[in-house]
Amino acid sequence: MNIDTAKNNVDRVGFLDVEIDPSMDLFHEIERLKKEKNAIVLAHYYQEPDIQDVADYIGDSLGLAQQAEKTTADIIVFAGVHFMAETAKILNPEKKVLLPDLKAGCSLADSAPAELFRRFREQHPGHIVISYINCSADIKALSDIICTSSNAEKIIESVPADQPIIFAPDRNLGAYLNKKTGRNMVLWNGACMVHEIFSLEKITKLKIRHPEAKLIAHPECEDPVLRVADFIGSTTQLLKYTQQDNAKEFIVATETGILHQMQKGNPFKTFIPAPPDNSCACNDCPHMKLNTLEKLYLCMEFETPEITMDETLRTAAKRPIERMLEISKAAGLIG
Ligand code: SF4
Repeated sequence: MNIDTAKNNVDRVGFLDVEIDPSMDLFHEIERLKKEKNAIVLAHYYQEPDIQDVADYIGDSLGLAQQAEKTTADIIVFAGVHFMAETAKILNPEKKVLLPDLKAGCSLADSAPAELFRRFREQHPGHIVISYINCSADIKALSDIICTSSNAEKIIESVPADQPIIFAPDRNLGAYLNKKTGRNMVLWNGACMVHEIFSLEKITKLKIRHPEAKLIAHPECEDPVLRVADFIGSTTQLLKYTQQDNAKEFIVATETGILHQMQKGNPFKTFIPAPPDNSCACNDCPHMKLNTLEKLYLCMEFETPEITMDETLRTAAKRPIERMLEISKAAGLIG
């Protein structure tokens, strides 16, 4: 397919469906494009290893939002899912934000349609809304403060104890935070398909086979898994834990992309992906894994697909993100 036809098809297909010369050194080409276009590649920990290896910055939602806020690059290439690239655009309206595949969505973000959420909010007058960053720009615009799994506790603690709160969209993270903070936040009934699917039974069997292994889990997991975890934390906190803890084996209950950085940082430790409740041995996010090195190269070369956003929506969605960044800075969570 020629490039003009591929560009016309981007909204329907999600990416530039163009053949690439198989002998091309994509790593070299991506580095060249970064320099030529003053572009930065931001990648989430759940991206495939090749993408992580070409990224200028790899992080979780909080770190990526902070990098997007402070970059001086003209082009931000966001190797992650749609709401993350949207967040980068919200913070950088003057910059071009590219996403290798527009169809890289998120089941959690999709579980909160804006109109239904607006009505839910109206049914709870007097509540403020704290939303997990894994939500659409529309939900952000309906929120008072955004949080990530790294800073959620601090964000909630910054709100007076007698102020009622709605927490959206992840019910598992919300329930975990209610337990941790002693609050009684009203929870929107959303969930992540990747973190909800871990099998407690298979994890228990794995623990019997690996009695010395520590189970580490992301708080988007369901309560029965969190109850048996040795450590619960955001993706970045899980990564740090594996570096600082003396254990030699870890069972990791989150998306498997993070194992690449865990293994790189700890070559002599063993990381076992926690098994999901299906026939697969590990748990990949199908949305995150839509991005490939080829699509990354093509979107940089042709500067498509690009994230665009209505300015009124962008401004409304920016306010709660800035509030999050302010609270996180004051709490010493980011520099
Ligand atoms: S892992 Fe879950 S929360 Fe993260 S992008 Fe995939 S579906 Fe969304």
